[in-house]
Amino acid sequence: MAFQIKIWDHCRYVEDKLRPYDEMARHLDTMAKAGICATIIYMPEVISLDDYCRAARQAGIAVEARIFPAWNVDNPVMRTLPEADFQEMEKRFGIRLAGSCGNHPGNRAKFLAAAERLAAEYAGRIEAIHLDFIRNDNALLLMDYPCQCDACQALYRRFFNCAVPDKAMLRDAAVQYKLLAIRNDSVKRTVRAMRDMTKRHHLKLTMAARANYLNSRDIADPPVWGLGPAVLEGQDWVAWHDEGLLDGIYPMNYHTDFALFQSILADYLRLIPEHRETLFSGVGISSSMGEITPEGAARRLAAIRDAGLPGAVLFNKTNRYSAEFCAVFREFAK
Ligand SMILES: [Zn+2]
Repeated sequence: MAFQIKIWDHCRYVEDKLRPYDEMARHLDTMAKAGICATIIYMPEVISLDDYCRAARQAGIAVEARIFPAWNVDNPVMRTLPEADFQEMEKRFGIRLAGSCGNHPGNRAKFLAAAERLAAEYAGRIEAIHLDFIRNDNALLLMDYPCQCDACQALYRRFFNCAVPDKAMLRDAAVQYKLLAIRNDSVKRTVRAMRDMTKRHHLKLTMAARANYLNSRDIADPPVWGLGPAVLEGQDWVAWHDEGLLDGIYPMNYHTDFALFQSILADYLRLIPEHRETLFSGVGISSSMGEITPEGAARRLAAIRDAGLPGAVLFNKTNRYSAEFCAVFREFAK
């Protein structure tokens, strides 16, 4: 099979929000001519998924619908902390992060219900459900600030005999082991349920994976706040791969420094020694980490192809690709 190149899309190029079809069709046609085989559309920004699916079908491009655990979920339970802890977090890391809690069974049930509504309505028009942010936020903050919502407190009472582990307990490896195990079990439960649901609707299941799985080189300075490690956030995508839970794993390897990009790519090859047909490396054309040139894209695509992976997934903040970039993609997609 030819080398496959996919894009993460957000419809940010659409100006006429009331009649988006023509602009979607133009964009997707341009991407199809550049050899792009699939688009992973971000559901909150798609404007009209009906129009988008029609435009993609016209262009001959497959659609993956990209959702995240709080998508279309009413009142998700967010990471809960006392205000003093939030203030301390902000002082230390320059950010106050309170994404939805991955341990909360109510969040899981609502997310699954929302995803199933999407699957039921669009099966046959979309090829896959794509899980974005299928984890807790954020590795750098989770070790010191585990969630204190009602569901988490119930788990802590069972395993730690207290509602909230204090700072001394958090230094105990056994306590950290259980916190991590709970976090990973909880998110894996969501992925397994998604796997069953998408199978029922004859859809594939794919995911955006953290670039840093475990001990890859990382960037820990704001405004990036780290690229993982995935396992601290409950996103053990290597275990999910081993269990066959996914049809596509797309790690977000957006490094603008080529040496870093390559070292992370080498980590993926070591971590997934076989059955790599689901492993596509991300490439950041432009992202929070910076931009690369068309030559830089060619170098990365060559490295991914030479590693024997089935393809790549491109991220680009603007969604627009110049003719120079398109010419590079076309060469690799032949
Ligand atoms: Zn919680």
